[in-house]
Amino acid sequence: MKLRSNEPYWLVRNGLLHTYPSLQQDIEVDVVVIGAGITGSLIAHRCVQDGFSTAVIDRREVAHGSTSATTSMLQYEIDVQLHELIGLIGEGPAVAAYRACADSIGQLETVCRTVGGDTGFRRKRSLYFAAWKKDVDKLRNEYEARRQHGFPVRWLTAPAIARRFGLESTHGGILSDIGASVDAFRLAHHVLQHATRRGLQVYDKTNIVRIAPGRKGTTITTEEGHTVRCGKVVHCTGFESTEVLGHDHVDLLSTYAMVSEVMPAAVRKLKDTLVWNTADPYLYMRTTDDGRLLVGGGDEEFARADRRDGLIAHKVDLLEKQIGRLLPEVPFRTDFAWAGTFGSTPDGLPCIGRHPQHPGAYFVLGFGGNGITFSVIGMDMVSAWLAGRKHPLEQAFRFGR
Ligand SMILES: Cc1cc2nc3c(=O)[nH]c(=O)nc-3n(C[C@H](O)[C@H](O)[C@H](O)COP(=O)(O)OP(=O)(O)OC[C@H]3O[C@@H](n4cnc5c(N)ncnc54)[C@H](O)[C@@H]3O)c2cc1C
Repeated sequence: MKLRSNEPYWLVRNGLLHTYPSLQQDIEVDVVVIGAGITGSLIAHRCVQDGFSTAVIDRREVAHGSTSATTSMLQYEIDVQLHELIGLIGEGPAVAAYRACADSIGQLETVCRTVGGDTGFRRKRSLYFAAWKKDVDKLRNEYEARRQHGFPVRWLTAPAIARRFGLESTHGGILSDIGASVDAFRLAHHVLQHATRRGLQVYDKTNIVRIAPGRKGTTITTEEGHTVRCGKVVHCTGFESTEVLGHDHVDLLSTYAMVSEVMPAAVRKLKDTLVWNTADPYLYMRTTDDGRLLVGGGDEEFARADRRDGLIAHKVDLLEKQIGRLLPEVPFRTDFAWAGTFGSTPDGLPCIGRHPQHPGAYFVLGFGGNGITFSVIGMDMVSAWLAGRKHPLEQAFRFGR
């Protein structure tokens, strides 16, 4: 699957941070993590911390899948609003899922501190504004639901939003204290480097073609014919999990992102805030450390790569117009634009757990606009399961729910 178009900003900016060998011998470990994106890196890091001999294997270069295309906004607010999620899965699990996402931001901060290096992690607020007047009542309900369940939120009127953030044409919105942004590409590299120094084996450019569970563990075979024997397999294969699981668990879409030229003064008011709105598809934005505005949106309900990438110029036009209306004072000029595959589930929650057709394996598949926060939650879940414990979110995130 072609997960993204060429030229995502993070790849251009960071280049090839580290490179790893392909697997050229047979090995035996406790845990194999398939996929060295942000999810696989975090899971492998935790497995090493928990004392398991671990190998991560990726068919591409490390972090060259969706992780190089993400806009890396870290939000506890998932694509399905809390009051709606309560209606879908019940109050207890819905609030627990939102809380876990909120906690995951602090957990990721700890990971960043532990692994060191500049991962671009910055605590930020998050502004969720009503794009249309008709959205205000629903957004007010959401504000009440979040407030009632103890999330630190304030309602801002449209003039207050304009004054504080320079955003025009809004209809009010929720300002949340919890949020952050990161450079997921760098973070994945730093996490893997840190874990490698503690015994993690990393192999890239190694395609896994066969996974055979047996009574005494699982044997994995690579395209070049080498085998990996292990106790457990953790699939962190992102949207390419459809190669193994089919399409029942996720709808694949296309999404678009672009980043402006460097303009720190013009985006000063947005420096500490993530912004997204209630439009469908929604528009979202954040700043980067070097003073650019990073904007995403324009989702399309198909995932065919040639069709997706063919629309980049059109989407840039569309998103630039939207930014022009919202931020009339900001002279947005696009420097890089790209497209990526994206996955969504009806309840906005990830699929993390066992799959009935794949014994001896766990899957950590973070879908929706919160893929990265879900990956952080996945660390705790996998850690609990490998230690023989249950996890409170395993029912809410299970396959086939
Ligand atoms: C434009 C865009 C904007 C986004 N914005 C956000 C955002 O703001 N916040 C957020 O949280 N999320 C966002 N996301 C989603 C986020 O990017 C993903 O959730 C995240 O990158 C997934 O990481 P991953 O490690 O699971 O997948 P990937 O980075 O795709 O890694 C999976 C890896 O598995 C490897 N693999 C697959 N099959 C095999 C195999 N058989 N053998 C060996 N290796 C294999 C692949 O090569 C790949 O490197 C966005 C996505 C896009 C495209």
